[in-house]
Amino acid sequence: MTSSPSLQSDLPDDRLGHFIVAALALLGQRGFTTDADQIAPWLTDWRGRFTGRTLGLASPASTDEVAAIVRLCAAHGVPIVPQGGNSGMSGGATPDNSGTAIVLSLRRMNAIRALDRSARTVTCEAGVVLQVLHEAAERENLRFPLSLGGKGSATVGGLISTNAGGTQVLRHGSMRALTLGVEAVLPDGSVLNQLVPLKKDNRGFDLKQLLIGSEGTLGIVTAAALKLEPAVAARAVLWAGLDSLPQARGLLLHAEALAGQALEGFEVLPRHSLEAVLDYLPGARRPIGGDHAWHALIELVADADAADRLPELAERVLVGALEQGLIADATIASSEAQAEAFWALRENIAPAERAIGPAVQHDISVPVALMPDFVEQTAPEIEAAWPGTKAVGFGHLGDGNIHYHVLAPAGVDAASWQAGDGKAISRMVHDLVTQWGGSISAEHGIGQLKRDELARLGDPVALALLRAVKNALDPQGLLNPGKLI
Ligand SMILES: Cc1cc2nc3c(=O)[nH]c(=O)nc-3n(C[C@H](O)[C@H](O)[C@H](O)COP(=O)(O)OP(=O)(O)OC[C@H]3O[C@@H](n4cnc5c(N)ncnc54)[C@H](O)[C@@H]3O)c2cc1C
Repeated sequence: MTSSPSLQSDLPDDRLGHFIVAALALLGQRGFTTDADQIAPWLTDWRGRFTGRTLGLASPASTDEVAAIVRLCAAHGVPIVPQGGNSGMSGGATPDNSGTAIVLSLRRMNAIRALDRSARTVTCEAGVVLQVLHEAAERENLRFPLSLGGKGSATVGGLISTNAGGTQVLRHGSMRALTLGVEAVLPDGSVLNQLVPLKKDNRGFDLKQLLIGSEGTLGIVTAAALKLEPAVAARAVLWAGLDSLPQARGLLLHAEALAGQALEGFEVLPRHSLEAVLDYLPGARRPIGGDHAWHALIELVADADAADRLPELAERVLVGALEQGLIADATIASSEAQAEAFWALRENIAPAERAIGPAVQHDISVPVALMPDFVEQTAPEIEAAWPGTKAVGFGHLGDGNIHYHVLAPAGVDAASWQAGDGKAISRMVHDLVTQWGGSISAEHGIGQLKRDELARLGDPVALALLRAVKNALDPQGLLNPGKLI
């Protein structure tokens, strides 16, 4: 066991020592460490905006071990920061700077407990990575219909705790819609087991829904029962160039009318985001020629019965859109590899934008019909108020959810810009979103990034309810302190 300045704690030495000895006795060397090198990768969030300190990293291997370490923490008054793949966008899995909390990683709990092909359900532990879940479902000719750019890292527990969305919400909903049951360790160490999926169950509040989206502040998700869908027999991935965002909304309505349930995803990218990915991603290619202000990525899917008709449907969507003047140019991926390449352009926007330089990111939603006007009106307002910045919106137009990034002027110092102008810009964006009746967190959660903004802009009645629930479940305030509320 070693320690380093980054791991030192503000707790008195004797209390700290007792806790560490007891945690090691409980979980063994694999399950608990204070080794600085092992812990370091987990102390900074994915965007690199928050770095904390910790008393130690707990990596329990079972629900019983999670319950035991939670009870130990409760007895010693040690706060707990639950962590999955650490791919979250709001700093929710990063401990604060006091060094008094442990990070509780669920990554060792990565077993798929059961996959029921006929019921189309999977029961898996919280540490199962989304990509692994996709592959397990595919082996049974099924699919888990939620995908996002961080799928190689994001875990089931993290997805549930942030109520993650992604690129298929349009048809299948977010994690709330896909989670049938949850097993969780509560702040006192008791285990809530609601894993058996029941289609009808009216025994009071839906407690699993309380945990979904609670960002590790109410309980530690240890396992979940999730809904699967039949594998698609065919998909058509379309790429279109457009002149404006209102045209993209028109294209969405047109595609919905023609394709109905076959429409699985509808994403938009501005010129700036596409160029950023083309620069960033080795081998990335422009799907269509010409210089378009906006691009739309559309996915249509079909089961075996309708697979033969899918290419014709895709053609009709594009031809109709061309005839109505909604799009300037378009193409349909001619192979699965090309379809993947189109999606890679979308999924690499976040890292590509990150590589360009400092930015402040906002994951916002407004009513779907208002989104084009929101972006077209507010982007120039922000750029005028903060000369040299660039406001870029991309993402899930079909859900009224845009990732709205404001890039810093060239040459600024990242840290001081983010703490100064960046913060002021975020306030402006959040004020605008609130004026437009929207949400300052559509799918990434509040974490520590937006906690103060939620307190500033949230409805006081809703905030009081959130706090009442938190106090009822976690009176000691040990689960993920400083996050969400
Ligand atoms: C490139 C990229 C693209 C992304 N795209 C999207 C997107 O389109 N849509 C979207 O919604 N998200 C997206 N994300 C964000 C991220 O992948 C999700 O927020 C994901 O749900 C986080 O999962 P995780 O396991 O990494 O959780 P972490 O980052 O480890 O934790 C996130 C939060 O959940 C809590 N938590 C984690 N595990 C548990 C648990 N078992 N029990 C209780 N609390 C827990 C943490 O305390 C923290 O508050 C993207 C991320 C990346 C890197």
